[in-house]
Amino acid sequence: MASASAPVSPVRVRFCPSPTGNPHVGLVRTALFNWAFARHHGGTLVFRIEDTDTARDSEESYEQLLDAMRWLGLDWDEGPAAFDSASGAGGGPHAPYRQSQRMDIYADVAAKLLAGGYAYRCYCTAEELEERREAARAAGRASGYDGQCRTVGPERAAAYEAEGRPSIVRFRMPDEPITFTDLVRGELTFTPENVPDFGIVRANGAPLYTLVNPVDDALMEITHVLRGEDLLSSTPRQIALYQALTELGVAKGVPAFGHLPYVMGEGNKKLSKRDPQSSLNLYRERGFLPEGLLNYLSLLGWSLAADRDVFSMDEMVAAFDVTAVNANPARFDLKKAESINADHIRRLDPAAFVEACAPWLQAPHANWAPESFDRAAWEAIAPHAQTRLTVLSDITANVDFLFLDEPVEDEASWQKAMKEGSEALLRTARAKLADAEWTADALKEAVVAAGEEHGLKLGKAQAPVRVAVTGRTVGLPLFESLEVLGRDRTLARVDAALAKLSAV
Ligand code: GLU
Ligand code: ZN
Repeated sequence: MASASAPVSPVRVRFCPSPTGNPHVGLVRTALFNWAFARHHGGTLVFRIEDTDTARDSEESYEQLLDAMRWLGLDWDEGPAAFDSASGAGGGPHAPYRQSQRMDIYADVAAKLLAGGYAYRCYCTAEELEERREAARAAGRASGYDGQCRTVGPERAAAYEAEGRPSIVRFRMPDEPITFTDLVRGELTFTPENVPDFGIVRANGAPLYTLVNPVDDALMEITHVLRGEDLLSSTPRQIALYQALTELGVAKGVPAFGHLPYVMGEGNKKLSKRDPQSSLNLYRERGFLPEGLLNYLSLLGWSLAADRDVFSMDEMVAAFDVTAVNANPARFDLKKAESINADHIRRLDPAAFVEACAPWLQAPHANWAPESFDRAAWEAIAPHAQTRLTVLSDITANVDFLFLDEPVEDEASWQKAMKEGSEALLRTARAKLADAEWTADALKEAVVAAGEEHGLKLGKAQAPVRVAVTGRTVGLPLFESLEVLGRDRTLARVDAALAKLSAV
């Protein structure tokens, strides 16, 4: 693994989502890699909100982004709000950090680009553009913008303006190829035919992503741009714009770029924002731990060591090296994510595990009355759950037998466990349990002995007991469960099951 030495100038990176829809795992991966890079180099993470698309942006989505970053523990240094929500307003030397509040800055930069000849007004109508595109295609030429309005002189411009012709502002791309060294992909070259002059301000004066994103990166003195591969095609345009901004004294230079690999979902298709698997909320609701989810997402392109999949964020920060990111697409693997999360659940100290489960032991998850919750019983059973859960939300069904008056009614489990001979077995087991000392070991011996009398191995013998007591065929270790439930309730449940069996 190549190890990059620390960049010389102080590192400044940014996470700059648009507040549209729900946060998704691809976005979190980008945030994580920027955060880890900033922390590794003792740099600064700027959190910027790219909310210039009034039709698609929402305040709700903005709030969700803040909430997601806080839940994940990805703290930022400059931004529209403070990471610690209790400490109030955010800010930083380059405030405001919401693009919707920076419109005058963009208008000013666009005017400078026009005045300096780096950009020009394009008066082409949509129909004209389409006609020329068609012709170019028919002739087998590149079909991007052909640069026609580069040569509109002041007179013709004045005539168009007098006519009331609308115009957009276009950036004039250099006529030479653009080469840069991507931190992940190495040297890349884009030829001029593939990167035509592009719009930076709409006819109505609204600045476009192509302008506001690099302008803010310049003004906020961003040193490294780490973002998804889907944005690679905009990079040559941004580099050219940077060069212009540097000549105009707006930027200090061009940042380094690193494009993180695509994340592939089912069937080797790119994981889409609309994919249910990609929604961060889903992982939160299922009870992923932030550290477990981040650990898994870090593996989408990076690894700590060939033989170590499970690590803490501190370890990631200490080792993170963006030049070691793999350029190949990464496959999102839910099973792997769950197994890494399970490892993080096991790593919690017992008290932290008990606390982490709290939301799933209450409404709306809990299927028992709040006053039936018994904290001592929960704490007694918790260590047995901690070693078995893959996601915290599974805790509810695993412990409900302790807090419900009667076990859940699950006909399928009943049918599966209650076979010929189950009644006789349960009767023997009931008698032996009633006489046993109430410890897990003694309870196990009782059921083993009952099974032996009926020619059943422990696995077969305990199934009817488990369903009688918990209502389910799978769950936490049975004898520890019985120990916590207590003698009276256990025997009453076995009696109820026997009554049900003899009634049929
Ligand atoms: N707001 C852009 C996006 O969410 C940011 C792209 C970038 O990182 O440059 O796609
Ligand atoms: Zn034009």
